[in-house]
Amino acid sequence: MAKKASVKKTTVKKTTVKKTAVKKTAVKKASVKATGVKKAVARKAASSRAKKFVYFFGNGKAEGNRYMKDTLGGKGSGLAEMTNAGLPVPPGFTISTDACNLYYERGAKLPPEIDAEIAAHLRRLEKAAGATLGSTQNPLLVSVRSGAKFSMPGMMDTILNLGLNDAAVEGLKARTGNGRFAFDSYRRFMQMFGSVVLEIPKAAFEHEFEAVKTAKGAALDTDLDEAALREVVEAYKSVVKKKSGKPFPQDPNDQLAMARNAVFRSWNNPRAREYRRIYDIPDSIGTAVNVQMMVFGNTGDRSGTGVGFTRNPATGAKEFFGEFLINAQGEDVVAGIRTPQPISELAKVMPHAYAQLRQITTRLERHYKDIQDFEFTIQEDRLYMLQTRSGKRTGYAAVIIATDFVKERLITPKEALLLVDPEALSQLLAPGFDAKEWKSIPAATRGLPASPGAACGQVVFSADHAVEWANQGKAVILVRRETVPDDIHGMWVSQGILTATGGMTSHAAVVGRQMGKPSIVGAGELTIDEHGKQFTLKGQTVREGDYIAFDGLTGEVKLAKVSSQPSEILQVVAGKIKPAKSDIYGRFNQLLTWADKYRRLGVRANADQPDQAEIAYMFGARGIGLCRTEHMFFGEGRIPIVQRMILADNEADRRAALNELLPMQRQDFYGVFKAMHGTPVTIRTIDPPLHEFLPRREDLMVEVAKLEATGKGGKELAEKKTLLARVEQLHEFNPMLGHRGVRLGITYPEITEMQARAIMEAACQLNKEGLKVVPEIMIPLVGLVKELKDQKLIVDRVAAEVMKEQKIKIKYLVGTMIEVPRGALTADAVAAEAQFFSFGTNDLTQMAFGFSRDDVGKFLRIYQDKKILEKDPFATFDAEGVGQLVAMGVQKGRATKPDLKVGICGEHGGDPASIHFFHQVGLDYVSCSPYRVPVARLAAAQAALSVKVGD
Ligand code: PEP
Ligand code: MG
Repeated sequence: MAKKASVKKTTVKKTTVKKTAVKKTAVKKASVKATGVKKAVARKAASSRAKKFVYFFGNGKAEGNRYMKDTLGGKGSGLAEMTNAGLPVPPGFTISTDACNLYYERGAKLPPEIDAEIAAHLRRLEKAAGATLGSTQNPLLVSVRSGAKFSMPGMMDTILNLGLNDAAVEGLKARTGNGRFAFDSYRRFMQMFGSVVLEIPKAAFEHEFEAVKTAKGAALDTDLDEAALREVVEAYKSVVKKKSGKPFPQDPNDQLAMARNAVFRSWNNPRAREYRRIYDIPDSIGTAVNVQMMVFGNTGDRSGTGVGFTRNPATGAKEFFGEFLINAQGEDVVAGIRTPQPISELAKVMPHAYAQLRQITTRLERHYKDIQDFEFTIQEDRLYMLQTRSGKRTGYAAVIIATDFVKERLITPKEALLLVDPEALSQLLAPGFDAKEWKSIPAATRGLPASPGAACGQVVFSADHAVEWANQGKAVILVRRETVPDDIHGMWVSQGILTATGGMTSHAAVVGRQMGKPSIVGAGELTIDEHGKQFTLKGQTVREGDYIAFDGLTGEVKLAKVSSQPSEILQVVAGKIKPAKSDIYGRFNQLLTWADKYRRLGVRANADQPDQAEIAYMFGARGIGLCRTEHMFFGEGRIPIVQRMILADNEADRRAALNELLPMQRQDFYGVFKAMHGTPVTIRTIDPPLHEFLPRREDLMVEVAKLEATGKGGKELAEKKTLLARVEQLHEFNPMLGHRGVRLGITYPEITEMQARAIMEAACQLNKEGLKVVPEIMIPLVGLVKELKDQKLIVDRVAAEVMKEQKIKIKYLVGTMIEVPRGALTADAVAAEAQFFSFGTNDLTQMAFGFSRDDVGKFLRIYQDKKILEKDPFATFDAEGVGQLVAMGVQKGRATKPDLKVGICGEHGGDPASIHFFHQVGLDYVSCSPYRVPVARLAAAQAALSVKVGD
């Protein structure tokens, strides 16, 4: 059953619209964006920094810039760029990603030269800040924050308020005249340092904190005064001593070294690794560490902190978007502990800082030509920028923003193409709820619409359960009070994420959007009992396993199972909505029209049925790259005929069955040709081993045994026994390497004859009707040129017969799949007989690696965990290895026939990274599932553009 299983798998994969995350956005975008100019700037900077590991920024000048993300990470390069632009950025320095890699190479130690370089930069920072680390009069406090090339929100560690100790805290009090603030900062620092660096469970600190709050009768953290906070600090010291066996470190230099190492270590914590696996971020790039002078959002009511986006990252709308908290530090906003206020409120309470923030962020958007995700702190009415980077957005928002930017003349259409991750387009094809049914159910509650899309599934309350249930094939919704980075695996497998707390920039919101998962956060009416596995809502109890549904665009939650319906774009494609009535369709189409202008690769579809072909055509496929004829054998009423053909033990009986199949196949081909409007259609002759069309051997054995046991088998028993005997005859130990592909056509030439006849009769008919159809007949699994020659003779003979009968001469091509390594190795000889090649990269990968397509799942994950393989080679093409076979096939084939048409029809044809390779190797087209066609069009344009700009 091996091949059938794989065919099935393939079909499902290809025809299901994957609700994919906007995966790899960062990776792809960054790689296609680098222009020659940018590279020159980066090179220049690199050449002047031989052996440099630490980069300063402050007082309007930085040693780094925006093009140094590899070295400084995203955060470091953004801080450098903002500093150079004269924006209010607290001074600091960035320890490079190279230092992180050295740290790992040297067995978790930094060479002393780097320690010295850090110390020198610290002195420089002290000078710029006018404060000294550990000073009892005027202490410098710093933040120590991770920052890799690609943003990994919340996955790595951060330490704030570093530099405080028993003496410095008094210095901070003296400088600010605010003892409450000084001790609040100290307890925050001890708690963060304790949990992140010393790895003491957070709960141990929280327990002490709550105890003091209870003793003082304080409802909020802010109700604690200096005396109470001094008690908290003393209690924390005991926790540290008890749990780590040592007193809390008092030397700020030790604190800094320990914090820096903890950030390096956090690069390899399990959630960061999982995140990199999901988003295809290489493990080898490491993180930078940013050490920056602290500014304080928690000094009182004239201070605050917030995060935001220059546009709405969920819908793409041009609106200033974000939230802030008065009298708070950054982690309070991101952690979703307190629900922040919308940023528009800031205009009321601090109009000056708000106006400055708007002006700066608008400038940043224009400078970077992309939506910016920023962090800021206001200290006593003074605004500081702490971060700017390209904002993660939903697929929907990506298309809206890119097309809006072109309208606003901020970017050109070419730049717009590079701004949208191709996977974003597949997100736009994800289903929504059936509008009528959705309206008929009352909303149970509402939350903040963090990431759009329709989600329906069974409620689970932990990430581990989500994974467990999803593995059982259940659709789940992960419901949490708030998500934490450790939940990432559960979020990934869920249909949607619903949280009771948190704002639009909380963890659940940011990660949900990035994954393209519908998400609602801050649904405050939910009372969640994660241990009891239930939540209550207005007196109703919802238990684990109950169905709920929500709309991530409106924030509505319903306690019901609701069916979904195709996306708006699919409805336009299906003719149910007029194109002019759909704004998003118009933009989607506009973007793809631009893509068509720049791409060189053709895009075809793999489709076996006229309706699939129609969808593919609507999505812009201009040709079929693979029509798997065997899929047609599974059509209604056909299996018994196919079985008769297989069971026949003589040619005459086999031909009789094939004659019955002929009109059916002719009709299939006629439909597919017609749906493709005269664009090329490649039809492959039968490929899988024949036993796949017969009942399973084990099932038959049981049936025979049952009939024998009852003693009333009669004719039925005799038939079953014959069938079983034939199934046993056809049984193969390794069917994927067995009697399949061209080998079938050679042993049963009458099958090839029937298929060639059906193809040619349909094509002749259509040509007579006025549609110019040029069929491409493709022979699979060819490793020997003589195999192709054998089949070509049959096809040519039948074609001549048909054309004579039909009294019409039409053009047709006979070509082959290159999917057996020997076919690629001898492509020069094969090309002499072939009018085209199509690389079957599924089989080629299978045979080049020697990994069974059906069994690779048993060990792939282990290979990936052990870093033996980075990616699944069946999903992302192995350019390094299998790519050599493709490159050789193309080169040898074209050495024989310079204008040989060459395409690819394996799964990789719809994968953007693979498409880049196929572009570079000079293929004429890629062929993928109908729903991946838009993705392939955009990826092909990006491949062409990035090659042109010398990336
Ligand atoms: C292939 O092998 O890449 C291919 C397209 O054929 P199939 O998946 O049907 O074996
Ligand atoms: Mg194949």
